[in-house]
Amino acid sequence: MCIFCKIINHEIPSSVIYEDDDVLAILDISQVTRGHTLVMPKKHVRNVLEADEETVQKCILTARKLAAQIVTNLHASGVNILTNCGESAGQSVDHLHFHIIPRYDSSDAIQITFGETEQDLESVRRDILG
Ligand code: 5GP
Ligand code: ZN
Repeated sequence: MCIFCKIINHEIPSSVIYEDDDVLAILDISQVTRGHTLVMPKKHVRNVLEADEETVQKCILTARKLAAQIVTNLHASGVNILTNCGESAGQSVDHLHFHIIPRYDSSDAIQITFGETEQDLESVRRDILG
């Protein structure tokens, strides 16, 4: 059983922020910023590409609601809501989860930068459309 399924089954303790029949939200053990939260479906599914639409919907709507609550109550100035899908994207736990990472200032322990690569946009577009 995966580590998040064990948390969902209360075999491993966690700090629960929200729970209903389908979704669990807990504080991330690593707290990249204060209030860093994980929102996950109770049923095991590997990632956002493998999940059914209803599961994704429930998780993302819960994440949005909690993000608003976290930003307000922890006096954050912004928030990243993201999901890593696959090892190359940084996914380390193979149970779908959305990170809520409240942002405070540029000294946050998280840095998200968009570098640039040279690409022929027309050939990229053609390849995506297949
Ligand atoms: P990923 O890298 O898969 O997107 O994110 C996995 C997250 O799960 C990491 O941020 C990591 O800190 C968190 N995590 C891993 N194990 C545990 C745990 O046992 N409890 C909690 N609360 N978080 C965990
Ligand atoms: Zn699982």
